Amino acid sequence: MLQAIKGMNDILPGEVALWQTIEETARAICEAYGYQEIRTPVLEKTELFARGVGESTDIVEKEMYSFVDRGGDNLSLRPEGTAGVVRALIEHKMHAADPEVRVYYIGPMYRRERPQKGRYRQFHQIGVEAFGIAAPEVDAELMAMLYQFLREIGLPDVVLDVNTLGDQSDRPRYLEALRAHFEQHRSELCEDCLRRIERAPLRLLDCKSERCHAVALAAPLVLDHLGPASREHFDGVRRALDRLQVPHRVNPRVVRGLDYYTRTVFEAVSTGLGSQNAICGGGRYDNLVEQLGGPALPAIGYAQGIERLVMLVADKLALRAPTAVALVPVASEQRAQALEIAALLRGRRIRCILDLAGRSVKAQLRRANRANAAFAVVLGEEEIRRGQVEIKPLVEGESAEQVAIASLVDRLTARCAERAAG
Ligand code: AMP
Repeated sequence: MLQAIKGMNDILPGEVALWQTIEETARAICEAYGYQEIRTPVLEKTELFARGVGESTDIVEKEMYSFVDRGGDNLSLRPEGTAGVVRALIEHKMHAADPEVRVYYIGPMYRRERPQKGRYRQFHQIGVEAFGIAAPEVDAELMAMLYQFLREIGLPDVVLDVNTLGDQSDRPRYLEALRAHFEQHRSELCEDCLRRIERAPLRLLDCKSERCHAVALAAPLVLDHLGPASREHFDGVRRALDRLQVPHRVNPRVVRGLDYYTRTVFEAVSTGLGSQNAICGGGRYDNLVEQLGGPALPAIGYAQGIERLVMLVADKLALRAPTAVALVPVASEQRAQALEIAALLRGRRIRCILDLAGRSVKAQLRRANRANAAFAVVLGEEEIRRGQVEIKPLVEGESAEQVAIASLVDRLTARCAERAAG
C-alpha cells in the first residue's frame, strides 16, 4: 500500500475545521495590526537558506530537503519562512514606497527532523515579520498581537519568555566569554558542539543533548554582557509589555536556534506540551536584510507551528458549524425539484445536504442527523401536488413549520439566519 512520507501528515476533512478556525483567527488579528499576507514559493535556492538561516545551524547542516534540479540548480524546500520573505522584500523593493513593511504568511515548512509527537517533517507555520522599525515598542506590539491570538484560540495559560542577545557591539565580548566557558568543559560536549565552539558558540546554548544542556546551564549570561544601547532597548520592550499587560518573564536561556537574531528574542510557552513546549518563537533580526543584499532595515518577526496549536486547542476551541439543511426526496421523481431548491439555497451560501443516490427516507434522515443538519424537508409526491411542505426540526430548540413550496427557500434562509444569530 502506498503511504505518505514519514513525518508528513494528511489533514483530513474531520480535522480541517480546527485548522481553518486557527488560520482565520490569525488572519483577522494580523490584519487588525496592519499586517498583509505574503505568499512566497516553498522552493528556493539553497544558498538563500545557507546565508539567511546560517551555515552552522542544525537546520542547514542536517535538516534541509535539498537537491540538484534537472538544470543543475541547488534548491531546497524552505525550512522556515523568514529568509524567503526577506528575499522577496529585497527583490521587489517592497520598502521603497514605505519603509515600514508588515507582512504575515501561512504555509508548509520542511525539515528532516526525527518525527515524534509535535515534531514533523512537513509542518505549517503562521509567521509575521515587521521591517523598518527600530523602536522597542514594535517588539512589544508584536508580542501583544501574538498573545491576543493565543488567548483568542483558547490558550490563556501561555507566557512569553523574553531575552536579549545583544547586538553587534556587545556580541564579540559575549562570544569570547562563551568560548572560554565551553573550552573548560570540552570533555562533556557532543561532537557537533565541539565543532561549533569557535565558529558559532551561541549554538551550544540550545543543543538538544542532555550533557551539553547541563554545560549550557552554567554558561555566562548575555544579560551580563550588554552594552548600554541593547540594555535600553530591552528595558523599553519590557516596559511596553507591562503597559500592554502581556504576561512575560525574562528567561536568559532563550537563545533560539537560528543565526540571524539580534537583541530581542522570545518564545511563547505552554505547559501542556511537554518537551516540545515552545509553540512559537521569534525575535529581532536587524542585520539580515543587509546581509542578504538589501538595505539596512531593522526587522522583527515570529513563527508559530500550527500542528502544536492544533494539539493544544483541540478540545478548547468552539468551532463555528454552519447551519445545514437536508432536502429529502422520497423517490427519484422528486430529485430534480429537490436539486433545484438545493441550488437556490446554495446560491445563498446555505449548506444543503441532498442525497442523489436514491436512499430511503429513513436512511437520508439518518445521514442528515449525522451531518448535524438543523432542518430537514421531505419532498414526496403528495407534498409537491399540494405545493406545501414541512420544515422539520432535527435539533433541539427548533420548531416544525408548514410552508408553501414557493416560499420554502426564503423561510429556510430566515430560519438559518435566526439560528446563526441566536
Ligand atoms: P523555529 O522556526 O524553529 O523557530 O520554530 C518556530 C515554531 O515552529 C516552533 O515553536 C514550533 O511551533 C514550530 N516547529 C518548528 N519545527 C517544527 C517541526 N519539526 N514540527 C512541528 N512544528 C515545528
